[in-house]
Order: sequence, then C-alpha cells, then structure tokens
Amino acid sequence: MPGEGDKKVKKKRSRARKDPNEWVKKWLVDTIDDRKGVEKTSSIYMDFIDRCRTERESVTYWRDLLKENGFLDLRNGSNDDPVPGTGFFLTNRDREILIGIVGEEPLIDGANFVATHLDSPRIDLKPTPIDGDRDTGLGILRTHYYGGIKKYHWVNIPLSLHGRIVKEDGTYVDIGGEEDEPIFVIPDLLPHLSRKAQNERKLSDGIRGEEMLALCGLSSIPEEEEERPPIISEVLEHLNSRYGIVEEDLTSSELSLVPTQISREIGLDRGLIGSYGHDNRVSAFCASRSLLLMVKEGVVPRRWSIALNFDKEEIGSDGNTGAKSQFLELALYGLLDWSGLRGNRRELLRTCSGSFCISADVKSALNPTFKGVQDIRNSARLGAGITITKYTGRGGKSGANDASAEMVGGLRRLYNHEGINWVMQETGKVDAGGGGTVAKFMASRNMDVVDNGLPLLSMHSPFEILSKVDLYMGLKAFSSFYTKYPME
Ligand code: MN
Ligand code: MN
Repeated sequence: MPGEGDKKVKKKRSRARKDPNEWVKKWLVDTIDDRKGVEKTSSIYMDFIDRCRTERESVTYWRDLLKENGFLDLRNGSNDDPVPGTGFFLTNRDREILIGIVGEEPLIDGANFVATHLDSPRIDLKPTPIDGDRDTGLGILRTHYYGGIKKYHWVNIPLSLHGRIVKEDGTYVDIGGEEDEPIFVIPDLLPHLSRKAQNERKLSDGIRGEEMLALCGLSSIPEEEEERPPIISEVLEHLNSRYGIVEEDLTSSELSLVPTQISREIGLDRGLIGSYGHDNRVSAFCASRSLLLMVKEGVVPRRWSIALNFDKEEIGSDGNTGAKSQFLELALYGLLDWSGLRGNRRELLRTCSGSFCISADVKSALNPTFKGVQDIRNSARLGAGITITKYTGRGGKSGANDASAEMVGGLRRLYNHEGINWVMQETGKVDAGGGGTVAKFMASRNMDVVDNGLPLLSMHSPFEILSKVDLYMGLKAFSSFYTKYPME
C-alpha cells in the first residue's frame, strides 16, 4: 500500500517535464499495426547490408535489382520516351549510382533528391601491403585506415578482404564475400604486458595507424639467410593460386578489410539491428528502395524523384565519385536532353534551383553512458523516428548547410500529415565536436537542402546499432518526400 509520502511524489512527477521516453512510446503505439511491415523491411535490409560491404558491391546490388525491375540503364541514352513513372539509373565508375523516376512535371522545374553515400569507414591496404616478420614468422598486411575511425575498435575482430585488383593486362579480379574467404585480424597486445607499453598512452593512441598490422599467414620455420622472410613467398603463392595475381598487381588495387561479422538482431525484443556499414548504406537503402517500390506499385510522382548514392563521403566527398564531382551535372544535362529540352548551363541551373534535396545520413543517438556530450532536448533516441537536422558542422555551425525555416517547415508539415515520427536533432552539445554530410555540396548547386537521418549508436565502429522502427520510418519518410513534397 502506498503511504502519504508516495502520493506526494507521484503528484510532483505528473507536474514534471515531458517523459523523455514519450517519443519511443508514441512510436510503438503508432506502428503496432504495421509490425509486419517493420519486420519485412528489416529482413530485406539485413540481407542487403550483409551482401554489400563496399560501395562497389552496393552499386552492383542496385544495378542488378533495378534492371530486373525494368529500370532503364541510361549509360548510352535511351530510345524510350521519358514517360512519367519510368524508372532509370546511371552509374559512375562502378562506385556511385543515381536512381530516378520520371515525374509528371517538367524536370526543368526541379526534382526531389535524396542524397546519400555508399562508402563506410574501413581499413584499406597500403599499395605495397605485404610484409613478413622474421622474428615471429608471421605474414603481415600493412594498412591505412579510411574515414574517421576509433582505431582500437578494429583490433581482435575477424576481418574480410573485399575489393578489386587490376592486373597488368587490364583485366581485374573482384574479391570478397566468398563462402571460404580467408579471414584476417589485427592483434592487440595482451593486458599482462600493456602497463608501460600501452596503458599510459592516450586512448586515441591506444593502437596507432602504423600499428594496424593485419595477420595474413604463418610460416612454421622462420629462416635467417634469405633476403625476404619466407612467409612473404608463401603469402604470394596463396594469392597467386587463389586469385591468379602477382605481387605487383596489388599496387593497382582497391582492397579493404571490413568486419566479417554479418548483421544480427539485438535485444530481448529484437528491436535493434547491429551491423557494419549502416553509415550510410541504410540511407541509400531507404532512398533507393522507396523508388523501387514506387515503380513496382505503379506510383507516378508529380516531380522527378532521384536518389543520389555517392562515394567518398567519409573522406570529404573529394574524388570523381564523390558529391563534389560534376557527375551530377553531366547526368542532369543528359536527363534534360532526354526530356526533350536541349540543356545548357542556364537550364541546368534552373533545374537545380527548383530542386529540393534531403541530405540523408545517419545521426548520433543519445548514448546511455555518454549523455553528457549531447543536449538531451535536441538529440535523437533510437526508436524515435527520423531526425530533421537543421544544421551539422562544428563550432559556430562552420561547414553547415543550415536549412531554411521554410524547408524545415515544409518537411514538418509533410511528416505530420503522413504520420511519420520525426525529431529535431543536433549532433551534440555546442563545441563538443561535430561532423558534416553532403548537404553543403548539394546546397552549392543552389538547391533547397535539409539534413535527415536515422539515429545510430556506435557510429563508425565495426558494429553500428540501428532501430528497426527507425529504418521503417526512413523508408516511409523518403517515399512521402518523393511523392508529396512540397505539399499543395
Ligand atoms: Mn555518413
Ligand atoms: Mn560517417
């Protein structure tokens, strides 16, 4: 039985601020009817993320799936007319893919873009990676990490080698994902001997870049006399018999070590998905799959709807497959031509200026251990739905797109109307750190841009954590953006 004191406490609580879990509960109530939809989307997504460990593998996945579903490959133009509702795609160097649907309104009045990226942080091999250690008889792969990682996350876990090796005759071998694929590991030091050697270092120095050495073989009898440790020739023999390559072929390769672990459901209620590469293949999945579903269901959008899946975001969007490249301009010239309007620079700029863009990238979720880095009133929680992130950047919003009140207002109206749960989000507390997305590169084309994203825990780690219900909301949000934004 409760005493007087308990009642008082209860009363006080009801006057307190909103329950911080309000969003989560609201979500559960709102979506309970579509549990099946949530589970179906999650299982298709988990299959996708397990198959696609690199940007190249993601492009291949979408290209095959889109072709099967009647999307036109516009690489060499098309003899078909751009009838509203027609799906199409264009790839750039096998590492970037633009997917679209022809709208009812002319392209020159602008399109609705969702911009994402397909690359994820990982451990690349150096151009001359193979080394041997004479004292231990161990074969070693020298690495150079890609993207902003906490290096200590990447030791002592099984890693798989994925990528492309170009041979001297111009042919290439794609490797990774085979059932009997070799596994690699970066070994850390045992705790027993770490006191001086490692424990007194700063955390960011716990394991250093040049210490990220992946084991790739073992020679049982190290020999002293030979010029190179014998393990090197053993590793090279393996590479030759398995992939038909010689050592010099590695200089013309893109090889990455990525986590071997595939996605898993997390928690007693299985409400979360743990996986490598949610950042940002989850946004690419939502942006691209909603277009696929629209074509399958015969939905004809009012405006041209385009998913832009870039590469190189994790290293600053530079490079010819990144968001700063003019591939988009070239594609838009082609699309303007296709739609019967010989595009020149002015038409291109008019198209961009009339366009709306969601820059879709994953966002930081509130971490129960490190709540102090975030302003709780302005942060996202797993299960709260999609974020509207007005600005990213660091310091005084440096490097941010900072979306207009009008664009945020339009999306807010749309999401409320469509029953999509959303939450306003900032990366973290003012001056706590920061980050960015491709938003600013889209904005530099004079589009109206806003950041949206799905919240993650453990971002940029080998095992990032996403909520199933947020994934489902992401898919719904982008579908409604393509078909209904701006609302009339
Ligand atoms: Mn990202
Ligand atoms: Mn990232």
